[in-house]
Amino acid sequence: MPAKVSRLGNDHGSEKPDQRDLAILRLIHSGSNYSRLDLARKTGLSPALITSIVRNLIGLKLVNEAPAVSSLVGRKPIPLEVRADAGYLIGVDIGSFYSHVVIADMKGQVIRREQIETGIPDGRVRVLQRVFDCVHQTIAASKVNREAILGMGVAHSGVIDTEKGLVLSFPRPGQMAQWKNVPLQAIFEDEFHLPCLLEDSVRTMATAERHFGLGREVDDFLFIEVGMGIGAAIFVEGKLYRGGGGKAGEFGHITVDENGPLCSCGNNGCLESVASCAAIIQAGRLAIERGVDSRIRELARGDLSRISIEVIAQAAAENDSLAYRVLQEAATYIARGLADLVNLLNPRQIIFGGALFRTAPQLLSDPLRRIIRQRSLEKSANDVQLRISPLGAEAGALGAARMIAVRALADLHRRAVSHPEQIAAPDLTDAPSRGDTPAESARGRLI
Ligand SMILES: [Zn+2]
Repeated sequence: MPAKVSRLGNDHGSEKPDQRDLAILRLIHSGSNYSRLDLARKTGLSPALITSIVRNLIGLKLVNEAPAVSSLVGRKPIPLEVRADAGYLIGVDIGSFYSHVVIADMKGQVIRREQIETGIPDGRVRVLQRVFDCVHQTIAASKVNREAILGMGVAHSGVIDTEKGLVLSFPRPGQMAQWKNVPLQAIFEDEFHLPCLLEDSVRTMATAERHFGLGREVDDFLFIEVGMGIGAAIFVEGKLYRGGGGKAGEFGHITVDENGPLCSCGNNGCLESVASCAAIIQAGRLAIERGVDSRIRELARGDLSRISIEVIAQAAAENDSLAYRVLQEAATYIARGLADLVNLLNPRQIIFGGALFRTAPQLLSDPLRRIIRQRSLEKSANDVQLRISPLGAEAGALGAARMIAVRALADLHRRAVSHPEQIAAPDLTDAPSRGDTPAESARGRLI
């Protein structure tokens, strides 16, 4: 019998009906396709009481019966789901090169998506104005009724204090002062008059993976993002592990070479300083400046400031030895760090996301698999699957929308209970056709 949910406690009779109904709504939203019978088992409430609570939630237009999977051995229990149109969420991911905005329904289906260049070198004020404009335009284009939007999740890289809604620092060249102790959550709330949350973009990507990607299949996994920085998110028993001070996952700042280059954190030889996209680009550029002949120079049309991770991956695909070498070196460093994590955490899966793995997955998989096998204990290495995220560049925004959806459930339930007459499907007439949940259209590659 499944473990009971501690949030409900054991003394259900003493709980107020609204809190009890909200707890059931949260369980249904957790996405496990629970039937009424599952809910009764999970909570310890009687099947009759669960039936009555679910009837209430359906009456409030918060919950639907999902199509049952047919079975040869009699009728299958009917899975329940939160109604897709019960409310809408905005997800924003402010990335180093591109920012993404999505509007998603309660099931995580994307109604509208936009991508813009972030233009980080223009400075914080102009970056935020650009993102604000994009969000306003996306809301207008989505045709979603403004009243139906429940909140906004904002993802940002760098060091984030989620509880206080602060960007503590954003270690990018020339941007340290611009992004130090910025109350980004409050800035978004002032602009949009919506409940907002701020979260580290690696965690929002991993959250998207948990609910819409490969993380649905396993409870214990690591999500590794390699972009301009390197970060990790750790899921233990289905929950994001944050650590005592909320900063867990700084995989990019483990030391892999004591005599290595200076890192933005002040230490030498952090993984991020030798294996991030920024480090790979820098290594390629320095080698060419020292006179190494490479296809990279031609692909960058002679301008070394145009070298990107895409250029390096393209050169490697054309058998350029320098490009191949800098990618292999980065993969080797990442794999060494991961071998230690595999020993420590014994994950079922390591899911790779971010620009490096979107751009050059086939060039990285061999060294990763080989070195993790060599350096981690045999049993743990056998347990772990290495896979590439199927979710694409908007995963960070999608996960941010999912995180605010979880937080918005209480508000959604309160609104429905206090104003049942106002419940109506939002005005989506003339709305563009809906996108799929990304995971339904793509499978992650096994590497
Ligand atoms: Zn560091």
